[in-house]
Amino acid sequence: MKVLAFGAHPDDLEIGMGGTIGRYTAKGHEVLMVVATVPNQKAERIGEAEKAAALLGAELVVMDVVPDQLVFSRQLVRRFDQVFGGFAPDVVYTHSNNDSHQDHAAVTNAVIATTRKNDCSVYMYEQTIPGGIAPNPFRAQYYVDISDTIGSKLDAIMTHHTQLDTYGPWWLEGVKGRAMYHGFKINVKYAEVFEVIKHIATW
Ligand SMILES: [Zn+2]
Repeated sequence: MKVLAFGAHPDDLEIGMGGTIGRYTAKGHEVLMVVATVPNQKAERIGEAEKAAALLGAELVVMDVVPDQLVFSRQLVRRFDQVFGGFAPDVVYTHSNNDSHQDHAAVTNAVIATTRKNDCSVYMYEQTIPGGIAPNPFRAQYYVDISDTIGSKLDAIMTHHTQLDTYGPWWLEGVKGRAMYHGFKINVKYAEVFEVIKHIATW
């Protein structure tokens, strides 16, 4: 299976679905992580994203869209179309369209447009933390047991030293606690949750 995962910034994918990426690659599936833009500390943050992707067993593409041009537009959809067409995914993941960050919402609007004609399933991961709070609640519809890959997820987040310096160790506790809460709901240790845009049967 080929999995394409879009994140606006370095670290978004690790926070939202790092455990799921690790689980896919451990089972032999191909995952391409796409980072749309790098708003600051470019060299350091791209290096951190490369380390995180390697740790999760995934490939990485940094599109490096100019931050002010990361808006829902024909131009952005065309750029996403190129990534999409070159990879031909079976499954696509993106931010919640209910995320308060304008870059996250722009990415998801463009991903939905990009997947309009394709036969792939499309899911949205939970809001990035910290922040992400939006008027409507996230509807956890699709659960992935990440008990075996929570360690890789946290290690992948910890490669982002620039962000750890900003948010501190409580950031990791928050991410881990959220995974524990979702896991408890389905009787496993840790889980990540997704909202379904379209789910296509593969049987
Ligand atoms: Zn972000």
